[in-house]
Amino acid sequence: MGLQTDDELLAAARRGDATALESLLVRYQPHLYRFGLRMCGNVDDAGEVAQESLISMARAIRDFRGDASVSSWLYTIARRSCMKKRRRGKFAPVREESIDAPGADAHRLADAAPSPEQSAANREIEAALTQAIDALEPSYREVLVLRDVEGLSAADAAKVLKISVDAVKSRLHRARAAVRREIAPLLGADSADTPRGCPDVVTLLSRHLEGDLDPQVCATMEAHLARCGRCRGACDTLKRTLALCRSWATPQVPAPVAASVRTAIQAFLSER
Ligand SMILES: [Zn+2]
Repeated sequence: MGLQTDDELLAAARRGDATALESLLVRYQPHLYRFGLRMCGNVDDAGEVAQESLISMARAIRDFRGDASVSSWLYTIARRSCMKKRRRGKFAPVREESIDAPGADAHRLADAAPSPEQSAANREIEAALTQAIDALEPSYREVLVLRDVEGLSAADAAKVLKISVDAVKSRLHRARAAVRREIAPLLGADSADTPRGCPDVVTLLSRHLEGDLDPQVCATMEAHLARCGRCRGACDTLKRTLALCRSWATPQVPAPVAASVRTAIQAFLSER
């Protein structure tokens, strides 16, 4: 895998190449599983979300219009699957039952061979990050997961969520600030957002990262950061928080879930 781009696989799959279709499905499975895990909060529902999304994808592959990105199309399908579970009353508050259980929810920070102390510290930060993301309201959580964990553009996230790009960004700024606040103490920083008399540098930085900060406001903020250590600390922890979101390795899909998805996909492919 990895030799062909998503677009190449997609083009081949649309021409009826079953191997290309299967490669595409396998490639997206951990991402859909992780999205399901964050949005539904348990392994069973996450497995169903991944399976339902991949089969919908396989079914609709010929109708896929190239004007949307593959990701935004797929997460739209996955989100619909999550919403169905929510309507069935299964959209329960997230319970992370097994942060430390191997395989159950095994995303690992992508650090190369850390020391045992470092691994323990990373696991602690990772668990806190998971908890902070899961504690967000669903409408904030899905924005942060799509944009900062799965790496969709704000425009693609807006397509998936059927809201405006401005609405995506305003939720994103609040979600990022909330997650940063939760994990800041573990990063050795103050959790307070804004010291009295200081600008809201966390929101300003988040807007800057989305390319939305007026250059003049940016210059004023930089001048403030040059003389205010607490605000520098707040900005630093936001950057580290986002780096952690992005370096979250794609999870290992638990073997039984992967096997069930594989069986369902193969059954579907053989029926065609
Ligand atoms: Zn300050």
